[in-house]
Parts: sequence; structure tokens; C-alpha cells
Amino acid sequence: MSVRVRFAPSPTGQLHIGGVRTALFNYLYARHTGGQFILRLEDTDVDRNVAGVEQGFVEAFRWLGLTWDEGFDIGGPYGPYRCSERAGIYRDYAQKLLESGMAYACFCLQEEAKADRPEEDADEDPGPGLGACAGACSSLHPAEALQRVRAGEPHAIRFRVPSGPPIVVQDIVRGEIAFAREDLRDFVILKRDGMPTYNFQVAVDDHLMAITHVIRGEEHLSNTPRQLLIYEAFGWRPPQFAHLPVVLDESRKKLSKRDPNVLPVSAYREQGYVPQALVNFLALLGWSPGGEDEIFSLEELCARFDLDRVGRAGAVFDVAKFRWMANQY
Ligand code: GLU
Repeated sequence: MSVRVRFAPSPTGQLHIGGVRTALFNYLYARHTGGQFILRLEDTDVDRNVAGVEQGFVEAFRWLGLTWDEGFDIGGPYGPYRCSERAGIYRDYAQKLLESGMAYACFCLQEEAKADRPEEDADEDPGPGLGACAGACSSLHPAEALQRVRAGEPHAIRFRVPSGPPIVVQDIVRGEIAFAREDLRDFVILKRDGMPTYNFQVAVDDHLMAITHVIRGEEHLSNTPRQLLIYEAFGWRPPQFAHLPVVLDESRKKLSKRDPNVLPVSAYREQGYVPQALVNFLALLGWSPGGEDEIFSLEELCARFDLDRVGRAGAVFDVAKFRWMANQY
């Protein structure tokens, strides 16, 4: 089966270094294996979308030379690749889970807007509680729930986490990690506004878009068991996962996109850096080519890159080293 990978940014802010590193690893893996690289815009958290940001993604990738095969601007057989245009698809799948009893309508009016955001934003949204159900919605009689839904009562759809053995994530980088189901609690898959939450959307899309490898930041590792539950519920075969080590600043703190010292990609361009230097530098953040060489063209990186040399330890963004590398170009 041909490799299909995706970079799936949410348009909530400009593309920063950590995001480009994730995109680059996906790109390199696709090119190394002769597979496909897909760009998907995860814009279903409508309150947080920032206008104009997606154009910045396109410009950044073009500048860096990272071409994609299918995406939100060029289409492709599995599109649309802009998730807000796929709302009907998620609703249909949520409906299937509702009908089979694997999900239920939740009428609790708790603050849900923050629920189930990617845990990338965990510092903003402590997250995993996902707005626990304050009522007894899970045990409502299905006929009563249906009646309330038909009467137009606002409701979310919540996935019923089945009891069972721990959920084991087999990660190419991090090995085997087990998550207890009791820690997950029933989670919202469709919000009251009819939009999917991240974990549901991403599982449905990765399946429908025939993604074979999910390569993304480590901050998403704790989301993976919920996504695996969705695969399990539909009887789908999950993709392989590779969670990349975090990018750290020189004081070994995680680089955050809210950190004013972290420049968006456009700033490197404006400061006159050569794109190849940035690509070369980012490729070595968490991946080791083996040997002494450090200067590689994009073609050389495509030829050499593989997931088995991605490390687990946080990768430090060393500004002096970046400047040195930029001077080699
Ligand atoms: N939209 C998510 C983000 O921007 C991507 C998560 C994923 O790759 O699964 O963090």
C-alpha cells in the first residue's frame, strides 16, 4: 500500500517552526517512500479561525519548496480538504454511532466550546475533561432522547467509551504506550453547533483519506487513544502513528507559538534567510541522518529521511547553530 501522509494545520495562527518541522517530516517521508503528501485544513473550531492564515501556509510551503499532492487549495480524489466543508460527512458518521448506541445525545449545557481541542493547546485549555456530562444523558432511554432531539432541544453527541482493556498505542517513535479507558470518560464528538470535535474529525478524515501514517507533534499523543476508539467503533484499521519529539528553546522549554521569540516562517523569509537553510536546520530537529554530515539539500534529505532515525528526546532550537547553517548557503 502506497504511503499517504498529511499535515493538518488548524488556521488559528501563523505557521511556526514546530509546525513546519512536522510538515517537513511528513513531506520527507512521502518523498522518500514515493508516497503522497496531503495538506488538510482543520478549520472546524470556527471561533478560533484567523482570517488569511491559510494563505500564509500556502506561501510558506511554496517558499520552502515543500510541494503537496492533494490539499485544500488544489483538490484531489478524497476532498474537500477543508474540514469545514466536510461537516455533513462528520454528522453522518456521528449519526451512525448514535443509531448503534455507541454514542448518545447529551443535553447538558456546560461550556463546550473549549471541549476536545487538540491538546497542543493544553496550556490554554486543560482539555481532557472535555466538559464532562453533568447529567445522566448516557443512561437516558433512547426513545426519550430521540423525542428531545426531535423537539429541537440543543444537544451535543457524546461517544460512549466502552469498558475493556487498556488502549495500546503502537508508536513508531515512542514504542508501545497503554492508556486506561477509565481515564478517558465519554467525550463529545459533535458539538451543539453541529461541528465535530478534533478527535472525531481527525479519525474520520484520516480514515476516509486513506492516510497510512499519522506523523505529528508529541502533544497529540494523549489524543490518540480517543481516535483509536473511533476506529474501533467503526471497525476501521488505524494508521500507523509517529509522534515527533517537542521542539525546545535554549532553556529547554517547549517552544510555544505564543512565545514572542518564536518567529513565524514569514519572518525568516523577510529577514533574508535562504529557505534551504531553514529546511536543512529543521530536518535535524529530532531526526539524525547518522554520520558527520550536516549540510543537505532537500533532495538529499528526501533520499535519506526515514522514521526509524527520529529520536524521542526534545530537540533544541539552537539559534547560533541556525545562524551558522544559514551562513553555509
Ligand atoms: N489540527 C491539529 C493541529 O493543528 C493537527 C492534529 C493532527 O495532526 O492530528 O494541531
